[in-house]
Amino acid sequence: MRNIFFILLIAISSLTIVNSQNLKSPSEFLGYNIGEQFSRHHQVIDYFEHVAHEMHKNVILEKYGETNERRSLNLAYISSEENLRNLETIRENNLKQTGILEGTSESSDIAIVWLSYNVHGNEASSSEASMLTVFKLLTEYKNLLDNTVVIIDPCINPDGRDRYVNWYNETASKPYDLDSQASEHNEPWPGGRANHYLFDLNRDWVWATQVETQNRLKVYNKWLPHIHVDFHEQGMNEPYYFAPAAKPYHEIITDWQTDFQTQIGKNHAKYFDAEGWLFFTRERFDLFYPSYGDTYPTYMGAIGMTYEQGGHGRAGLGVLNDEGHVLTLVERLTHHTTTGISTVEIASKNAKQLNVEFKKFFDNSKLKYKSYVLKGENDKIESLKSLLNKHEIDFEYASGTKASGYQYSKGKQGSMSLTSEDLVVHTNQPKGKMVKVLFEPNATLTDSLTYDITAWSLPYAYGLDAIASKTKVASQSISSDQRQSKISNAYGYVSKWNSLKDAQFLSSLLKNNFRVRFTERSFTSNGNKFKRGSLIITKGDNKHIDNFLDALRYLTEKHNQLLTPIYTGFSQTTPDIGSPDIKLINKQKVAVLSGEGTSSLSYGEIWNFFENQLNYPLTSINTANLGTTNLAKYNVIIMPNGYYGDVLNEDNSKKIEDWVRSGGKIIAIDGALRSFAGKEGFGLKLKATNTMESSDNLIPYAERERLYTNSMITGAIFNVKLDNTHPMAYGYDKEYFTLKLGSSSYNLLDRGYNIGHIKDTKVYSGFAGKNAIEKLSNSLVFGEERKGRGSFIYMVDNPLFRSFWENGKLFLVNSLFFVNNNVFEL
Ligand SMILES: [Zn+2]
Repeated sequence: MRNIFFILLIAISSLTIVNSQNLKSPSEFLGYNIGEQFSRHHQVIDYFEHVAHEMHKNVILEKYGETNERRSLNLAYISSEENLRNLETIRENNLKQTGILEGTSESSDIAIVWLSYNVHGNEASSSEASMLTVFKLLTEYKNLLDNTVVIIDPCINPDGRDRYVNWYNETASKPYDLDSQASEHNEPWPGGRANHYLFDLNRDWVWATQVETQNRLKVYNKWLPHIHVDFHEQGMNEPYYFAPAAKPYHEIITDWQTDFQTQIGKNHAKYFDAEGWLFFTRERFDLFYPSYGDTYPTYMGAIGMTYEQGGHGRAGLGVLNDEGHVLTLVERLTHHTTTGISTVEIASKNAKQLNVEFKKFFDNSKLKYKSYVLKGENDKIESLKSLLNKHEIDFEYASGTKASGYQYSKGKQGSMSLTSEDLVVHTNQPKGKMVKVLFEPNATLTDSLTYDITAWSLPYAYGLDAIASKTKVASQSISSDQRQSKISNAYGYVSKWNSLKDAQFLSSLLKNNFRVRFTERSFTSNGNKFKRGSLIITKGDNKHIDNFLDALRYLTEKHNQLLTPIYTGFSQTTPDIGSPDIKLINKQKVAVLSGEGTSSLSYGEIWNFFENQLNYPLTSINTANLGTTNLAKYNVIIMPNGYYGDVLNEDNSKKIEDWVRSGGKIIAIDGALRSFAGKEGFGLKLKATNTMESSDNLIPYAERERLYTNSMITGAIFNVKLDNTHPMAYGYDKEYFTLKLGSSSYNLLDRGYNIGHIKDTKVYSGFAGKNAIEKLSNSLVFGEERKGRGSFIYMVDNPLFRSFWENGKLFLVNSLFFVNNNVFEL
């Protein structure tokens, strides 16, 4: 098989009349036949630089950012000489079609096609394909460039790609081993899929928590292409997958977007049929969750698609798959090159219609809800605004006094009185369809079998109450909010505690050696009432800080905090500032488990949270070293989601329990709870599985997946009752909305504290099967179980999931600094 492909490639290359004498094919440039080796990221970029240099009239290479590991992020713009000269005019005209740029658009017959490669680092054939694709576009398919602008991102995830490629290069045998059991086909933890912080960049388009996404969105939103392709790989036994996508489709997707996917698929099929290659369409990869490389572009007006080649991190340069086929890198990249070129071809053939339909997409006059109004803590509004800014979605502030419509906190019709600090997001803006997708209380799901979570509604994620209004809510562009902190000489200063920004402020104070207290009871001083969790910084506690007032002022301004001065330790209502209920916050030495047994994604979320959000030191301990680690050096150990069966052997289990008894705190997230549930001496217990009704078993074999959905929760939003007198829930009201990711549920603790639990099993948003819902009634969400001097803290739902559930993050910070705040000297 391998040789046939080479002959094919060489034959095609030699027939080509190359425009520039100096343009080299990827094979000539790299010094090996493409697909015979994995190219490291810099080699891929070197090739694109070569192409841009030799073909400068047809190619512009742009650097749009850098990864965490300082690798370059690049885009190549490829088109005819004339189009490339007018590139800026083409771009502006395209944005005029959307209404984002003011001015009348000229009717255009130039299609804009954006091809994104290697978002998953170990799906490594696609960056190889990107090189062959650009070469072919500039040689044998050059005529397609007359009416297309092709934008190629050769590698969305360079850190992940090189993690995979470097590992493969150092591991593989020569010649490569076809045996799928060989180590070169089995990546070690954490694998090459994710980026540096182990985030899946194909789940991050909307949340934009990662630097790769943040940089890409800036350019993407300047262009808004008509077609976007995200190249992937799936298991090595799977044939090729391309459009049309599987159901469910989000209802916002237009008939044109649906129909054109079929046209694209049929064009690809023509080439695959001619070669006798297997492929499938309309199954498995759906268009619903908005944070993918296919859905995000779709909701921004493009035909957004995922193409999947069989291969993935297990295929290496060649592997014998379960069907007895020797799958090679050459074959994989050849398929991706074929679909890439075919996509540009069909775009070129339909360039005019693509523009007409693209323009129509941005008419948002028919959307059901005209405005979303959001109310809540200033910090939470600010953090939502920063998300909207990343997508260049416009917002204003309420100018009226009342809004009525669907009220999120109640899950039904209601109304809300308004102030000029409340945020208003209208849908009659160019990105109105994305607004609908992100804010909608409950997106219509045409089919419950989906690939990902089914709920993400922003008001719940950001802890804001909201109204979705069918009439346009009056708004103005300027908020009246003016925050100013005055720090003059006083006995002490109090900071509120209810947002991640407050937590960042605390982290900064502690790192600068401030001594900070928090209150376990609300109190009143100088006429101001302070809630539980409020931070208190007294002058007397901080005599060791040089220029205390200046230093405090500096940090307060840096974190945009509002401090309230108090002038005496004698409170109007107790506790006084010196009360035992106002406790000193101990600097916590925090460790997290990583490596085999832990979920790399969950570990990455914690790592990213500490380094990029809380900005607080974190020590990572590999589970392989747990047995020899001196745990006494840490106050808190976080166990990410994972399967700890092999990690928590008898010795390690005893070690952890002893450490907790002597005053340590374990924070166990999601799957990590299973390590303790049902164990002797623990109050944590999994809820019993419902016994299946015998009539359920009459469901035909062909419907078996559907039967399974009864027990499934695919990311759904539930109301949680909180005990906000417990330190883990300081800063929260008595209710909270949680994103439940799976159907595991636990009984309420019969000893310990049930800080958050589900009482009412109403699904506020998303899909949950009926059996799974039944089990949720009276189930634990957040709990604390004490042992000796220490605690086990349970988080059934992971508040750091993909780092987008903003309103859950404070539970983790509370657990670190407030829960069981014993003095634990190192
Ligand atoms: Zn993938």
